[in-house]
Amino acid sequence: MHSYSHIIDGKKSDLPLGKVVCVGRNYAAHARELNNPLPTSPVLFIKPSTALTSIDEEILIPSALGECHFETEMSLLIGKPLTNCNESEALGAIAGVGLSLDLTLRDIQQDLKDKGLPWEKAKAFDGACPSSAFISQPIVGDLQNQQIRLYKNGQLHQDGNTSDMLNRILPLLAYISQFFTLLPGDMVLTGTPSGVGPLEVGDKLVLELSDLIRCKTEVTSA
Ligand code: ZN
Repeated sequence: MHSYSHIIDGKKSDLPLGKVVCVGRNYAAHARELNNPLPTSPVLFIKPSTALTSIDEEILIPSALGECHFETEMSLLIGKPLTNCNESEALGAIAGVGLSLDLTLRDIQQDLKDKGLPWEKAKAFDGACPSSAFISQPIVGDLQNQQIRLYKNGQLHQDGNTSDMLNRILPLLAYISQFFTLLPGDMVLTGTPSGVGPLEVGDKLVLELSDLIRCKTEVTSA
């Protein structure tokens, strides 16, 4: 297993690793590319802490399990407990902003979706959430105007802006906290813009959050 710990503004954080709450279909163009209807309320799922790995190390994909897709997402590190919170409490609890890959075993997910079954096997496996170091929120500035880009082997595949989110970040955190208490060290993934696609062993990835974060990684086989 790769080592992972939360890093904020270049310093190792004392926050423990926790659950990762993710939102599906939070960009209309991505919902369309997978032929999904737009949800009337946020689609939520959870990855366990065992899904976390550092994106600065190689990404291990379970290549025996069908197509593994990249989904590049803005991630939030939670620094204070949130239960039934309002938007200002949500803003005050964001300890860091980063980038994560919501790795998705697309063939398995399609089979589970067809059968109406939960998605955990497709999205919550070990290593399914490679994540960057975080930048503290005041340095990032406007969370709803950040560019998310993913280059695969030098080619731009994802190029979206957080202004296009269907559920904006603060109402989304408030909504999540009605169901799941967010604890210090938990993370929230805010959905992927369009352009997702399969990963293959040897692929070289570059992920960018505006001009704030740029990380490089390479895909290898588990
Ligand atoms: Zn996703």
